[in-house]
Amino acid sequence: MHKLEGISASEGISIAKAYKIGEPDLSFKDVIVNDKESEINRLHDALNASIDDLNQIKDNIVENLGENEGMVFQSHVEMLSDPEFISSIEQLILDKGMCAEKALDVTTNNFIHLFKSNVTNVWMKAQIRERTSDVIDIKRRVLSHLLGVKLPDLSLVDRPVIIVAKDITPSDIAQLNGKYVKGIVAEFGAQTSHSSIMARTLKLPMILRAKGAVKEIRNDDELIVDGLSGTIIVKPTRLQIMEYHERIKAFHIELKKLAQFQKQLTTTADQRHLRIEANIGNDRDLKALDSSAEGIGLYRTEFLFMGRDHVPSEEEQFESYRKAVFYMRGKPVVFRTLDIGNDKQVHGINLPPEENPALGERGIRVSLDHDKMFRTQLRALIRASSYGDISIIFPMITTIDEYRKACSIYDEERATMIKDGQNVGNVSLGIMIETPAAALIADQFAREVDVVSVGTNDLIQYVMASDRMDGNVADLYQPLNPAVIRLLKFVVDAFHTEGKDVAICGEMAASHMAIPLLIGMGIDEFSMSNESILKTRQFISHIDSKYAKKVLDDVIDNAATVSDVIAKLNHFLDKI
Ligand code: PEP
Ligand code: MG
Repeated sequence: MHKLEGISASEGISIAKAYKIGEPDLSFKDVIVNDKESEINRLHDALNASIDDLNQIKDNIVENLGENEGMVFQSHVEMLSDPEFISSIEQLILDKGMCAEKALDVTTNNFIHLFKSNVTNVWMKAQIRERTSDVIDIKRRVLSHLLGVKLPDLSLVDRPVIIVAKDITPSDIAQLNGKYVKGIVAEFGAQTSHSSIMARTLKLPMILRAKGAVKEIRNDDELIVDGLSGTIIVKPTRLQIMEYHERIKAFHIELKKLAQFQKQLTTTADQRHLRIEANIGNDRDLKALDSSAEGIGLYRTEFLFMGRDHVPSEEEQFESYRKAVFYMRGKPVVFRTLDIGNDKQVHGINLPPEENPALGERGIRVSLDHDKMFRTQLRALIRASSYGDISIIFPMITTIDEYRKACSIYDEERATMIKDGQNVGNVSLGIMIETPAAALIADQFAREVDVVSVGTNDLIQYVMASDRMDGNVADLYQPLNPAVIRLLKFVVDAFHTEGKDVAICGEMAASHMAIPLLIGMGIDEFSMSNESILKTRQFISHIDSKYAKKVLDDVIDNAATVSDVIAKLNHFLDKI
C-alpha cells in the first residue's frame, strides 16, 4: 500500500481497479514542405474530421449530461471553424513552409500565450486555465487526425474502473461510460477546468495534480480515490477498504443531509433568517445555478466584455442581463457595472499603462471616463429591469461624488428611455464597499444608496495595504485582522442605523472562520459561488447568532492580532 496526494476537483469516494489511459504518441517530424497546397488540404481534412468527431461527442453529451455541457464542444467546433485560427495556420504553411502539424502547434501555442499575458487575478487565471486546456484538447484531436493516431476512447471501458491519466480532457470525460467509470486521477489539470465541471456534474470523484500517478500506479492496481481529501491509496489493505466503505456510507448520508438545505431558507440555530445568493460572471455560471441560491448577489458584468474582440453592444448586453433575470424567476439579481482596470482588461477600452494599477483607473473610475460605454451598459440594464427584480451597484466607489455622478447618468438615461416609450422597471441603485474611504463614510452612503454589497476581496487589500495578487505579501492579506473586522462592523452598523440591509460578496462570505463574526455583526446577505451555497447554509444552521454576537464583541474589544481572533473563533467553533 502507498499513498499519493493531489487536489480534489470533484467530491466523492470510490474503490475500483486502475485503468490507465496512455498518452497517444502525437510527436511529429518538423519538416519543411514544398507542396504547400496539398499541405493545406491535409490540414483541412484533419480539421473537418475533428469537427465531425466533436459534433458526435457533443450529441452524446447533450443526451447524457444536457445542453449546457454540450456547449463546451460547441465552442470547440467554433474554435476549429474560426477563420482567424485557420488562416493563422495556413499562413505559417504558406509563408514559412511549415508542415501542418508544426503550424498547428505554433498557432495554438500563440493563442495560449495570448490568453496568459497580462493576467494576474485568481479568478481570471482560473478562466484562462480552462480555455488553455480546451485549446490543448482541440490541438490533440487535430494532430491525431494529421498523424493517423487514435485517441483513447473511454466509451470502450466495460468494467468498474478508476481512470488514471497524465491529463484528462473534456472529450475524454464526454466519452466515458458512466456506468463503469468510478473515478478519475490525473497528474495535471485545474479545479475550474471544463473537465472538472463535467466530473462534478457526473458526480464522479476526481483528483488532479497527483504527482507520479502514472508512473506509480499500474493497470489493475486496486485504488481508493478519496475526492474529499485529495488522497489516492494504491493497493489498500483489507482494513483500509473496510474503513473506506464506511466513509462512503457516511458521505452519502452527508449528501442527503445537504440536499435537504436545497429548498430551505437560510436560518441560524436561533431562527434568524439570512439570505444566501450567488456570485456569477457569465451564462455558464448562470446555468450551473440550482434552486439553492435565493438570488444573484453579484453579477460580475465585466466577464461579458472580456475574451472578445469588441465591446458588447447594448443589444448583446441586454440579452445576457435579461436571460439572468428570467432565469431567476422573480428572485433578485444584483448587477455590478463594468469592473475593469488593474488585472482585468477589455479589447476596445484602452486604459493607460500605470505604475500602480490597483490604485489607478479601475471600476467606476473607468466607467465615468468612458461615458458612451457606461451609458450603453446602463441602458441595457434598465431595459432588463422590466423583466424582474434588479439592482445595479457600482464598483470601486471611493467618494460620494462618484456615486452621485453615476446616479445622475443613470437618471438621464432612464428619463430618455421613458420619453422614448421604452419599458422600464424599478431599479435599486447602490455601491460596492471596497475602499477604506467608502467604508469610513458608510453612514453618509447609507443615507443615499438603496443597496450595498461589501467587496471584501478588495477591501481587505486596501485596508491591509497588501496586494491581493502578490504572493510575497500574502501573509499580510488577513481577512480576520481586527482592523478588517472593526471596519466591517462599522459599515454594518451604519447601514442598519438607516434601516438598510448589508450584503457581503467577497470570498470571506463563504469562509467558515469568518461567518460567525459576520453573523455576529448582523450581515443580512451572503453572496458566493454556487458550490459553496449548501455547505454554508448547513453551517449557518448550527450557529446561534446571539452567541456569535458575543464572540464578535469579544473580538472587537479584546483582539489585537489575527491569532487572537482565531483563538476566540476556535473556541466558538469547538462548541457548535
Ligand atoms: C470584491 O472585491 O470582494 C469583489 C467581490 O469583487 P472582485 O473580486 O470581482 O474584485
Ligand atoms: Mg472587487
